[in-house]
Amino acid sequence: MRKIEHIIIHCSATPEGRHHTLADIDRWHKERGFATVDGITVGYHYVIQLDGTLETGRPHKRAGAHARGRNRNSIGICYIGGLDKNMKPKNTLTAAQKHRLEITVKKLLYDYPQAKVSGHYNWASKDCPCFDVQDWCKSVGIQEKHIT
Ligand SMILES: [Zn+2]
Repeated sequence: MRKIEHIIIHCSATPEGRHHTLADIDRWHKERGFATVDGITVGYHYVIQLDGTLETGRPHKRAGAHARGRNRNSIGICYIGGLDKNMKPKNTLTAAQKHRLEITVKKLLYDYPQAKVSGHYNWASKDCPCFDVQDWCKSVGIQEKHIT
């Protein structure tokens, strides 16, 4: 069993309003040479579509490929979006995505009570996931001890 210490949030870095699914990201990650195990290539454990649909990628028991140096002990969640029409970083979370993200993160914190939530930007010099994860955590009532 992996020890999960981080729940790391990402965006797909795709333009606002453009629909994508886990299958798309799976294909992109295959093209980038990520390992395929049991038919699953995508580096994230979850993908949240524009309409809030939650899709499951890698099983929890398998390390992700989403945050260099932190994959071993983390779960990676990716929402579709994160860029404006000009491909500039933007918080494009839809109301449905926000709601699904909150439910998903809180469920994970219940399952992994020692885990802390962070954004990809906490571990790499990137804008991902293009919103302030710490502010968001506080706004949905996630306890300080669960915030990176
Ligand atoms: Zn990321």
